[in-house]
Amino acid sequence: MLIDQYERKVDYLRVSVTSRCNFRCQYCMPEKPFEWTPKEDLLSYEEMFSFIKVSIDNGIKKIRITGGEPLVRADLDQFIKMISEYKPDIDLALTTNGFLLKQQAKKLKSAGLKRVNISIDSLEKETFWYLTKKDALAEVKAGIEAALEAGMFVKLNTVVIKDINQFEINDLYNFSKQKGIQIRFIEYMENENAFGGLKTLPSSEILKELEKSHRIKELPAKENSAAKLYQDESGYQFGIIEPYDDSFCKSCNRIRLSAEGDLIPCLYFEDSQNIKQHMGSEKGLENVLKEVVFNKPEKNKWSHNSLNLNSDQELSSRAFYFTGG
Ligand code: SAM
Ligand code: SF4
Repeated sequence: MLIDQYERKVDYLRVSVTSRCNFRCQYCMPEKPFEWTPKEDLLSYEEMFSFIKVSIDNGIKKIRITGGEPLVRADLDQFIKMISEYKPDIDLALTTNGFLLKQQAKKLKSAGLKRVNISIDSLEKETFWYLTKKDALAEVKAGIEAALEAGMFVKLNTVVIKDINQFEINDLYNFSKQKGIQIRFIEYMENENAFGGLKTLPSSEILKELEKSHRIKELPAKENSAAKLYQDESGYQFGIIEPYDDSFCKSCNRIRLSAEGDLIPCLYFEDSQNIKQHMGSEKGLENVLKEVVFNKPEKNKWSHNSLNLNSDQELSSRAFYFTGG
């Protein structure tokens, strides 16, 4: 079992298979292309799998494949198959922008993928383009349908940005509810890599928008869930991810592996240890895993007090396209 110095049990590993992406979400990735890590410096699937085996043997119960955009890396289904064959009952999930999902949903499901979270921030063509810099709303919607048809358990992720997609909260909610899919609204986490000027809409404001048409109650927190769970008068359940709230870190059970081999204990801070030098040694991989888990920081520095104040508060320099969110 993996336990950190604050007695949190860590049983969730997020694996980023690439930092590259076919979108340029304004809250995540700079608009212009920049230097990508050359392919030869990335971990191969075999190397990632060596680490994953050690992680599973040490108590990891849930693995989420992410990126960048994970579906742009070739043969992802083969990687999924390696993991699901090693541990068929592992909780194996994927987070994707959905653009390439229509083509890949069936083969990912056959490879053993059970769950997929699809990011969708707007149902309006113009706003979708404004936020992602890709005219891809139709493809993402088709990706959602394909995942449902393939029999995967689907959730939707929406990052809410003040004054941009704030007015679509109810539309996105109704879209998800009609499809019987759980939506999770995510408070935008400010970071140095995002397009300047974007503002977080706090969860209280997200709830206010929904309460205009629904009676919402909070449900008891699920152990180690990043999202707070809510339910409306019809029994439909949805989540809000509130990294600015203390409970987010108190229940944190996650570590992250980047495509470059950095093992990252926290989404906010730059600290990490690279696992490449330990390849070929199970003991070495186990030691670095235990050390990084033990040294997880107690909490991030996102704070409701600093929201929207244009303060000189230091921003996190961790890039979401690198850590995988
Ligand atoms: N490309 C995939 C996608 O967009 O779903 C996977 C990687 S993305 C980094 C993972 C998640 O992080 C997405 O749901 C995305 O919306 C979210 N994300 C990225 N930047 C964020 C930010 N600054 N604040 C909050 N969520 C963010
Ligand atoms: Fe790409 Fe996902 Fe980042 Fe958007 S949030 S730029 S889709 S990695």
